[in-house]
Amino acid sequence: MPEGKIIKALSGFYYVLDGHQIIQCRGRGVFRKNKITPLVGDSVVYQAENEREGYIMEVYERKNELIRPPIANVDQAILVFSAKEPDFSSILLDRFLVIIESNEINPIICITKMDLLTDEERLKLSDYVNDYRKIGYEITLSSSKTEEGLDKLLPHIKGKISVFAGQSGVGKSSLLNAIKPDLELKTSHISSHLGRGKHTTRHVELIDIENGLVADTPGFSALEFDTLEAEYLSNCFPEMAALRNDCKFRGCLHLNEPKCAVKDAVANEEIPRYRYDHYLQFLQEIKDRKPRY
Ligand code: GDP
Ligand code: ZN
Repeated sequence: MPEGKIIKALSGFYYVLDGHQIIQCRGRGVFRKNKITPLVGDSVVYQAENEREGYIMEVYERKNELIRPPIANVDQAILVFSAKEPDFSSILLDRFLVIIESNEINPIICITKMDLLTDEERLKLSDYVNDYRKIGYEITLSSSKTEEGLDKLLPHIKGKISVFAGQSGVGKSSLLNAIKPDLELKTSHISSHLGRGKHTTRHVELIDIENGLVADTPGFSALEFDTLEAEYLSNCFPEMAALRNDCKFRGCLHLNEPKCAVKDAVANEEIPRYRYDHYLQFLQEIKDRKPRY
């Protein structure tokens, strides 16, 4: 039986992309007994009734499941930051990175609005860029206005399911529109008039861009460390996670423990001081978190 990916769910129909065809499917099959509700992003087996319609027979096991927007099997988050308007913020970047890493989703950092920077400002930003690249993060610099750097972003999208993430106003919709010009996405300015509930009724759709699938609704809007454990936090800082076995104590929180490899690395500037400071701040937030029951 043929297979495909659900790219849209609406009014009881699932739209399954199989190659270049989209088949409008209804649910049927064993997954219904197991109470699985098919999600956008699911890989499915379907039975074709004719060229355009069919039935979903089976939903493959998911590798992950995002809640907002509801998408299964997300490979990566394209984390959009503006170089200016609003200014680049490394603490906000680290906050997003931790949230994304803790969901075991690969982040790709994309700094946009580069056209707004002077040469001097570009130089200043490149210090951060070098730091994050050294940690191992993919980071691209681009502008939706001049289209510089977009060619560096596109190869990352190919063959993957991606979700854009980032603060409102950083340029996510502009970026999506720039890489897929025939799209007419709502920009934040229009949708913000609808108020806070705007995402509750809105359905998510995956858009086929450069042989990859990109969610038309941004994710990771909640930036609290709701469920993250203090002991797990340093796993979300790859340069600290790499030193995990070098600290004297197992489960070292890299605070005041003796013979801490992370603190040593900060002291000799192998780990940027600001990354460690952000780690400490997030750790405190986790410790201050109110119990949820
Ligand atoms: P979103 O809320 O993240 O989707 O941000 P938008 O795409 O709606 O962009 C917010 C504002 O930034 C809009 O006024 C855009 O015109 C502007 N903008 C977006 N990308 C760029 C860019 O690369 N260069 C410049 N100069 N402005 C941009
Ligand atoms: Zn340590």
